Amino acid sequence: MDNERGTVRSAQAGVTNAPPDRARLPRSRRPVGEPTAPGSSSPWILMYHSVAVEEEDPYQLTVSPERFAEQIAWLHRRGRRGVSVRELMRARAQGRGDRLVGLTFDDGYADFARYAVPILQAYGFTATAYVVADLLGQDNGWDTEGPRKELLTVEEVTELAASGWEIGSHGLGHQALPGLPADVLAMQTRESRRLLEEVVDGPVTGFCYPYGAVDLPAALAVRDAGYDYACAIAHSPLTGRFALPRCYVGDRDGTWRLRAKKGRHQLRDAVAELRRVRKGGRT
Ligand SMILES: [Zn+2]
Repeated sequence: MDNERGTVRSAQAGVTNAPPDRARLPRSRRPVGEPTAPGSSSPWILMYHSVAVEEEDPYQLTVSPERFAEQIAWLHRRGRRGVSVRELMRARAQGRGDRLVGLTFDDGYADFARYAVPILQAYGFTATAYVVADLLGQDNGWDTEGPRKELLTVEEVTELAASGWEIGSHGLGHQALPGLPADVLAMQTRESRRLLEEVVDGPVTGFCYPYGAVDLPAALAVRDAGYDYACAIAHSPLTGRFALPRCYVGDRDGTWRLRAKKGRHQLRDAVAELRRVRKGGRT
């Protein structure tokens, strides 16, 4: 509870310090906690990591290709289209996007290109892969207990971006951002962006917090590094453009569980929106 109250105070401070005329702000000065579109709820964004056949999966990061295909087919049957978060944000800014679902893949596992991409392509879906900028071509050494998984190489990331898949930053070294000194936060956000923009030969506008861990200094660092949005996991007082909540999807999630998770997202979003409105009324 203490932590939560502390974060609320910090979030309020960030919003209060923002200049009054938001409409004229360049993108990078948008207040943290701003909804993604005026008066709207958070978009539904699914969070995946690895799509592969895995015997051992202590962090529950892996969805089998069969299960993944079933989940994507379900979205398609429901009249929904899976898209990158970049496309989702653009659509929402234009007042459309009701039928869109964000599809995200954290860590940049090589199996994204091998298993996820062909299945997504079959439905005309897109997605975002958040890669660790300084670990391309290496493995997930940060997960000490899990099986080693290969990460996408520089060449693969270049090819994916050229084919229209959004590549976003997952920082440097897969390090949690909260608690890091300001200069390290700036390095994590700016340097990872610079490295990836070279690899994709274009703008990198999305960030994804390692471990979903975000606090106000981290969100401000991401905003000030020039990103357009950032993905977190949980709903929080920072929920908004720079802390988008996402729904974890695992190998146990058949269509009934996915449906239930959609309902849970809407409920959490309604509670977060209520808190945001009440907070706004007090400041
Ligand atoms: Zn990660």
